[in-house]
Amino acid sequence: MQIPFIDLPAQQERIREKLNSRIAQVLAHGRYILGPEVGELENQLAQFEGIGVAIGCANGTDAIILALKAMNIGPGDAVFCPSFTYAATAEAIAIIGATPIFVDVDRAFYTLCANSLELAIEQVAAQKTLTPRAIIAVDLFGQPANYPVLSETAQKYELKLISDCAQGFGCRFDGKSPLHWADAMTTSFFPAKPLGCYGDGGAVMVRDEELEARIRSLAFHGRSTVPNDHMSIGLNSRLDTLQAAILLEKLAIFEDEIAARGRAADYYNRHFDGHVLSTPGLIDGARSTWAQYCLEVPDRDSFMDAVKAEGVPLAAYYPLPTHAQTAYKFFPISPDHLPNTVAASKTIVALPMHGYLQPDVQDKIITACLKVLSKQGAGL
Ligand SMILES: *Cc1c(COP(=O)(O)O)cnc(C)c1O
Repeated sequence: MQIPFIDLPAQQERIREKLNSRIAQVLAHGRYILGPEVGELENQLAQFEGIGVAIGCANGTDAIILALKAMNIGPGDAVFCPSFTYAATAEAIAIIGATPIFVDVDRAFYTLCANSLELAIEQVAAQKTLTPRAIIAVDLFGQPANYPVLSETAQKYELKLISDCAQGFGCRFDGKSPLHWADAMTTSFFPAKPLGCYGDGGAVMVRDEELEARIRSLAFHGRSTVPNDHMSIGLNSRLDTLQAAILLEKLAIFEDEIAARGRAADYYNRHFDGHVLSTPGLIDGARSTWAQYCLEVPDRDSFMDAVKAEGVPLAAYYPLPTHAQTAYKFFPISPDHLPNTVAASKTIVALPMHGYLQPDVQDKIITACLKVLSKQGAGL
């Protein structure tokens, strides 16, 4: 038996009949673009977060682009983001003509470091070539960024705060959604995300009606309320009705799945504490959705080879920080040179994580990892 990294078939098995009937309903009414399921899902996403409104869109990258464009951010503007994230965060900034400024992450939590952020903002402000406009915090691996602190920084420098919650939809800080602090929160329904559909999908959430209206227009070619008129250069970025129908059934079991992921993470922690460089740290008051469960180990690459040879799939997130990648290496970075990002990228490794991890399978994964660690003489 091959151990899966993410077990989508197990989830499908659980809700197969409901998915089939949802899909059949869409085929019957035939409203494939902005059908009733899209609005129903948007309402339920807002209800799930307990704040704001949701606007469906084509993917999590477009969600960030739409939020930035709706805030009138573009050429000449600086947007601060972590380097330790998937490239799409910086890509969204660069594709609208703004400049991503790479900031370090906190060593223990992998989320935006407020000190590194202030250094970067001060440097950009002093140079006067770009206008600081926004901060994108990433809820990496499912954990909320430190929103109470980051929103103070945003207020101090009069910057917009965006939560790139592609991995963290459903995370909480002191029981609250990131949208409680952020001006916009974006998410992705890419199949492998904690809340994924069966294709590409995404959503933007905001608390402001004007921003909502601008995003709805931008996502639909910039159309205006006057028929046939388009008031801005937008995108074709809508969430398919079929994907919304699928997501409605997945959202119904999502809270339960987050709890199961949390139990699996606790179980990993109990077995790995003291045997690795670090098990995942959680900010006080944070609830993670555990998009990834990441350890740091001394000899990461050979650890991965040896554990994979035992039949356990692993992944490194992220071995090459965005600021070191070909398309991004010429963008500015914080004056601190991102030491935590560089360090984490060398030792981090992700283990299989999903809401259907059976205890016997998890024991096999743990045994394989501990065996390799002791062979390597981890020297901890
Ligand atoms: C997946 C991801 C995105 C992009 O989402 P897509 O739906 O694939 O466009 C953006 N940011 C982060 C942090 C992600 O993990």
